[in-house]
Amino acid sequence: MSTTLRRPTTLTDDFLEGLVSRVRGSTGATWKLTEVYTGEVLVELPQSTPEDIEAAFAEAREAQRLWAQWPMAKRLEVFRRAHGLIVDNAHTIADLIQAESGKNRRMAIEESCDPPMIISHYLKRAPKLLATKKRGGPVPFVSSSTEIRVPKGVVGIIAPWNFPFATGLSDAIPALMAGNAVVVKPDNKTALSPLFGIELLERAGLPRGLFQVVCGEGPDVGPTLIDNANYVMFTGSTGTGRVIGERAGRNLIGCCLELGGKNPMIVVDDVDADEWAQQALFAVFGNTGQICMHIERIYLPEARYDELKAAFVQATEALTIAASYDFGPEIGSLVSVEQRDRVAAHVEDAVAKGATVVTGGRARPDLGPAFFEPTILEGVTTEMLAGRTETFGPVVALHRYRSLDEAVKLANDTDYGLNASVWAKDLKVAEALARRIESGNVNVNDGLATAYASKGTPSGGVKQSGVGARHGDVGLLKYTDVKNLGVLKKPVLGARPGQDYEAYVKQMLVSLKVMRRLGK
Ligand code: NAD
Repeated sequence: MSTTLRRPTTLTDDFLEGLVSRVRGSTGATWKLTEVYTGEVLVELPQSTPEDIEAAFAEAREAQRLWAQWPMAKRLEVFRRAHGLIVDNAHTIADLIQAESGKNRRMAIEESCDPPMIISHYLKRAPKLLATKKRGGPVPFVSSSTEIRVPKGVVGIIAPWNFPFATGLSDAIPALMAGNAVVVKPDNKTALSPLFGIELLERAGLPRGLFQVVCGEGPDVGPTLIDNANYVMFTGSTGTGRVIGERAGRNLIGCCLELGGKNPMIVVDDVDADEWAQQALFAVFGNTGQICMHIERIYLPEARYDELKAAFVQATEALTIAASYDFGPEIGSLVSVEQRDRVAAHVEDAVAKGATVVTGGRARPDLGPAFFEPTILEGVTTEMLAGRTETFGPVVALHRYRSLDEAVKLANDTDYGLNASVWAKDLKVAEALARRIESGNVNVNDGLATAYASKGTPSGGVKQSGVGARHGDVGLLKYTDVKNLGVLKKPVLGARPGQDYEAYVKQMLVSLKVMRRLGK
């Protein structure tokens, strides 16, 4: 373990205890939240009972009634102020994210920027999206229909540990802007940064009680949370997503499920080897491979396989990996010893079934309890865990392809469809390939950030990678119901009393044709 590691001075006991005092927990039961780099307890996190969760929803519902009556401009003003506060506190946020997740500083500071980007986007879009829209009625001039956006009520958010600040806050922001309250359940391991985010929102003027936090193990908290929510936003594994979706379906409430991936990258034979290798490092090893959209399978053209492999191995072996609260290390820790063991199990299973470790492949207890080396495998097949299921760690498999058709077929040979990447100098070739990949996101000459950071375009998974999307118009409108207000000024629908029905039908059919011609 690094001997120079010093916990950031911002993370005082008083500060951390103030944060966790926001969690609903009436029994005194707690969970030991640890600093990943050292395994030392940072704070005792209260655990919520079903009664605590119900109380959180009751208070949120009360606050929501008032919040929904605020004029839109006043609601949005809160987020304008919050944007500044989050940016001004980026370093404290990064301290919290690093301590609870073990990621490196570069990634933590980038994560802190996601909610401000979401705020900026929806400050611009929300007034248009939420505005009441007058539509034509079935009979011109005497009828009208008005589309009114109504908040769902209280949105339940279940967030994972890999981007705790971003998934805890960024999905809540459009829900709140639309006039909802939110009850969030962060992962126990990573509750601190979202709690600080909520504190900043309240400093910016968000009414207290509107954004509640409950904590606990998923299966303990999930059922009561879903049963009390008017909509559920879930980010996590495909297995858990299925459980959440089933319960939401039974309750006849909507849900958005952002799930796992087994994301492929196709490299076309015209790339510059060194440039590609440098850029691909983040796509594969960013956040120590714990990004849902990161790349776990790389398909290289047969003719340039050895050269591209050599460039990528060399770049990988040059990565710096360490526990540090400064911007030095390029790679940080995995989130927990359990996650390290899962990653190690995927590598061991692959090797036992005939795969080869090209570089890496080992845990690094000398750096911290949950460190694992950036790892490149060859000879991985779909019979291996690492060939079919999500590893969610710094492990990638290299494969050869002989034709682009074969590359597309291999890329699509998965139950997942979250993200994919295509590299080529010839953008036409790259875009044509990208369109053939079955995936909710495809990045050309980038691993994942271009699609994810484009907040105006919906981002979600297809196949077993999800239902619905975040970002784009749908990322806000999903948190609303539509009320269709129809108004008829005169009773002109249907036959008049005493009117011959044959004559009425004739007149109606003629008017249908006239209205089509007039474009009504
Ligand atoms: P996970 O499914 O184990 O847990 C996610 C959250 O769900 C946690 O808060 C957990 O406590 C909770 N949970 C677990 N079981 C539950 C249950 N029965 N009912 C209610 N809640 C429950 O996932 P994880 O290991 O924390 O996160 C990693 C996974 O998340 C990976 O598969 C990754 O790909 C995925 N992910 C997807 C996206 C995306 O946008 N598609 C983003 C980030 C992470």
